[in-house]
Amino acid sequence: MKLHHLRNASAVLQIAEHRLLVDPMFAEAGSMPSFRFLARGGQKNPIVPLPPEAEAALEGVNGVIITHEHPDHLDRPGLAWIQERGLPVWTNAVDAPNLRRKGLDVRELVDGSLGMGVETITNRHGRGPVGWLMGPVAGYFLAHPEEPSVYLVGDAVLTDAVLEAISRLEPDVIVAPAGTANFGLGDILFSIDELVTLAQRAEGELVFNHLEAVDHCPTTRVQLRARMVEEGLADRVQIPEDGEELTFERRGGSHARPRTTERRKPWLQKWLTAKMAGT
Ligand SMILES: [Zn+2]
Repeated sequence: MKLHHLRNASAVLQIAEHRLLVDPMFAEAGSMPSFRFLARGGQKNPIVPLPPEAEAALEGVNGVIITHEHPDHLDRPGLAWIQERGLPVWTNAVDAPNLRRKGLDVRELVDGSLGMGVETITNRHGRGPVGWLMGPVAGYFLAHPEEPSVYLVGDAVLTDAVLEAISRLEPDVIVAPAGTANFGLGDILFSIDELVTLAQRAEGELVFNHLEAVDHCPTTRVQLRARMVEEGLADRVQIPEDGEELTFERRGGSHARPRTTERRKPWLQKWLTAKMAGT
């Protein structure tokens, strides 16, 4: 399995014959407004361009995975890129109807999709009212029999659901957002302390992304790496630069069996999220 990190949460994930583009934010640097809606000192987004490696990495992509519809995970250029190629878009039951309305070939990611064990894990993208406002967000556990299993956590703060999924599913690789995002109303992503807990509870490797690409994510790679070294976790944690490709080998044993989960339909909350996404 290969994970070619592009920028923010965008990556190309190669699992067996599948070359899956995850959460494409393809906007040119500075072409979107600041995400620090309620704070001063914002910058236009994204704050860095796509890396030069992106073009080659995107060759041969044969599917797309969307964790949720926020503009730093699916923006207008990302949407146009998918539409031009007519690629299948794999997502969860909550995001599927709205993405379908955008004319995409949407398929629901369920156990057995793409020849993999699949589970959707529901997240909280912040606490209290801000978490509600951010809308429903999902993570995916993907387990191909010939590849390491991977848990794409998606945007989240630390919850029992995330920790329970890690201990039950024992993913070989966990990809988690580490920018400690905040737009002036409290954290909407894992704090650094929560990332330490995540790494301590996990037995496999971790990849931290969602860093140094959008203006509401203040944590830097250097800062995060230093903390992981301090906690004795650095040997299992990778923090890729934009454009860096990581390779993971299958470990022994069989993958845990996913569970089917029912997600509550969010109605108004989903409408708000879709408005916010504006794609
Ligand atoms: Zn995000």
